[in-house]
Amino acid sequence: MKRYLKIALAFLLLGAFFVPMGFAGEPSVSVGLASGVSNCTLKANSITFYDASGKQASFRGTVSVSAGGRNNIAVGGKTLALPVTVKSKGLLYLNGKPYRGIFRLVASSNSFTVVNELPIEDYLKGVLKIEVNPNWPMEALRAQAITARTYALAERGRHGSAGFDLCATDHCLPYRGVSAEDSRLTQAIESTRGMVLYYGGRPAATFFHSDSGGWTSNVQSVWGQDIPYLRSVQEPFEYQSPYSSWSLKISGDEIGRRLSRAGIDVGSVFEIRPAKFGPGGRVETVEIVGSRGRKTIKSHDLRMALGAKELKSTMFTVSADGQAPRVVKPAPKPSEPDGAQSQSSTLITLTREGAFTSEELLDMLLHPEKKEEYVQKALARRGGKALAPSTPESSSKKDPKLLWPQWEMPDESADRDTTGVARGTTFVFQGKGWGHGVGMCQWGAKAMAENGWSAEKIVKYYYPGTQLQKLY
Ligand SMILES: [Zn+2]
Repeated sequence: MKRYLKIALAFLLLGAFFVPMGFAGEPSVSVGLASGVSNCTLKANSITFYDASGKQASFRGTVSVSAGGRNNIAVGGKTLALPVTVKSKGLLYLNGKPYRGIFRLVASSNSFTVVNELPIEDYLKGVLKIEVNPNWPMEALRAQAITARTYALAERGRHGSAGFDLCATDHCLPYRGVSAEDSRLTQAIESTRGMVLYYGGRPAATFFHSDSGGWTSNVQSVWGQDIPYLRSVQEPFEYQSPYSSWSLKISGDEIGRRLSRAGIDVGSVFEIRPAKFGPGGRVETVEIVGSRGRKTIKSHDLRMALGAKELKSTMFTVSADGQAPRVVKPAPKPSEPDGAQSQSSTLITLTREGAFTSEELLDMLLHPEKKEEYVQKALARRGGKALAPSTPESSSKKDPKLLWPQWEMPDESADRDTTGVARGTTFVFQGKGWGHGVGMCQWGAKAMAENGWSAEKIVKYYYPGTQLQKLY
């Protein structure tokens, strides 16, 4: 009797934990494999479709599915009402690729979305190989299984409005079904079955990344929100990874263009200064000076703008080559003869449009007599496209100084802190590590496993304060 009481109590306690998740055994997850498609092929030895109206259709081998107007699909000459559940006794193939579990076909405007629904342990088998090398030490693989399981549970429902939990890309977790399975990874998953990191009664947000470069990031410096178990920790062991040293060379013009695409408009960049450092020297914010102004931004945002695969991490130093102008105090507005007015307003409009490179702007400042030549060149490059109207009213309301700063060459005696400033026309970032740096570092976990650490010890180190629980 006592035993039953214990079981009932455990069930109640677990029930309390499960409330936010809504499951009481091994949970399943639904993964969006193909969103908004108008056709696909499905294959299985014996495949059965169950539609929303209760209609059933069975086929053998390969069958083509195509969108058939609003909330309908056509399957092998039959019309079925969405949502449709697709089942088979064995594996199901979508466009030639095998998956465990079942498929659900859900409506998506005039097309449909293929969702793979399966138990989470089977789901993990199709995820891990994309994250980690199966030949790594087993404890590092087990740590990865725990973090991926926890992350998937914490993120379940992220794509709820589209009819599934998680997408199959690195927006959630990359998932490739049975083709990505590996026996060592399956062993890592099975030996940690049901093990989940909890914090505050919920699965923890166990972000992970490839290589921290020595110290992990404070989550607050990356995404703005402080999460107690996602603060910076130092790697306890030294290791070498393919990302231990990298560099990125990029022009100030290109940085300006990429920042502008990300909504950060400072014009052509000619100065970058790491402004705030986190533990281990990670750059948290940078001050950027360009032809249109100066801004201090999170270095994570700089990384996203430049390309996460190019500026591989925020563990970097930056230097510059080339001679760049530098904004100093605005000079008195030069008085222009009447005839120069139209050239001046064309120049302002073209500058505002970013029609000149920073080299051209600099050359014009040094050689004002060349302005006309550059204006003609810029107009020719535009291929006859009309300039935005610049009415006398609008130009009189705007101070041209804002668009056309008064520059001088760098003055070394200037009273300004120039420590760590990179100023020039081409920038070189020298860095280490790869990824946002938040949570578990995969290469660090490998080093820990090589030094005898267990998976449990590894995850507790990267996510301090979380509780590791076996949920099923
Ligand atoms: Zn996603």
